[in-house]
Amino acid sequence: MDRIGVVGAGTMGRGVAQLFAEHGHEIVLVDVAEDILDSARADITRHLRLAPLIRRGAPVRPPEEVLPRIRFTTDLKVLREVDFLVENVTEDWDVKRALHRELDAICAPEVVFGVNTSAIPVTRVAGVTGRPDRVLGTHFMNPAQLKPTVELIRGHHTSDATLARTRALLEGAGRRHVVVEDSPGFVTNRVLMLTLNEAIFTLHEGVSTAKDIDRLFKECFGHAMGPLETADLIGLDTVYLSLQVLYENFGDPKYRPCPLLRRLVDAGLHGRKTGQGFHSYESGEQRRG
Ligand code: NAD
Repeated sequence: MDRIGVVGAGTMGRGVAQLFAEHGHEIVLVDVAEDILDSARADITRHLRLAPLIRRGAPVRPPEEVLPRIRFTTDLKVLREVDFLVENVTEDWDVKRALHRELDAICAPEVVFGVNTSAIPVTRVAGVTGRPDRVLGTHFMNPAQLKPTVELIRGHHTSDATLARTRALLEGAGRRHVVVEDSPGFVTNRVLMLTLNEAIFTLHEGVSTAKDIDRLFKECFGHAMGPLETADLIGLDTVYLSLQVLYENFGDPKYRPCPLLRRLVDAGLHGRKTGQGFHSYESGEQRRG
């Protein structure tokens, strides 16, 4: 069974680590600070405890079985031991570029790099490594341990063997996938980020309240969550950075982030992970499920 390196232990990385650990993989989960890793451990424990209630009948492994499979570390070099890597660091090109150069030097040549990004083109990431055929986009949905389908992005150089390996890994973890070609934001976020931004503009312009904007989508369209709740779940900092990436990559003003979004990010109100965004959340709850 593949040993999996998960880099970045924020909203997404901790869910990806939980998912693969639940399916029997040994995990190395890396972030830059111990307090982030402590928070990831606490979050994974809490969600494994709650899982029997949330997943209603689906088999769930207890925390005592799953957690020992995850090695929490700030030492990137431990990644020399892994067979497959999923990178989930901040949606910032400079951060991803520097990190992928480093990862390329540490990891064995045959290791596949799955890039979990919201909008950054996968080909751009692949280009800073010496293994562009072994790099692809693995766009997990949030929360990663619960969502059934992953958007796979084929970069310019991604090989069929890399896609086949990734498919097998996901199928082993009970996940379906859809393969798309490389383009900023892929399919999901190219559409979703515009929708979230436009919903934020309607709030900014006083067209409606946060509660009612979300109610309209839930009650009129039958969506499980409204757009402002979705933005809070993703993280307003990540939504803002993703819009910036789309804006820069397409050079199209339709992706300009709403000033209200920028103001909330500057104020440190990043949504669920900080306890406050467009809505309030008890105890800074990071993820559901
Ligand atoms: P986040 O801000 O919650 O977490 C990012 C983590 O990366 C932080 O803990 C940070 O300390 C860590 N990090 C930064 N630089 C690092 C480095 N050099 N080495 C190790 N760790 C480092 O962000 P997130 O929401 O988890 O997003 C991570 C990636 O996944 C982004 O590219 C984002 O666009 C993408 N994504 C996010 C969502 C979502 O709903 N939040 C969904 C799919 C994909």
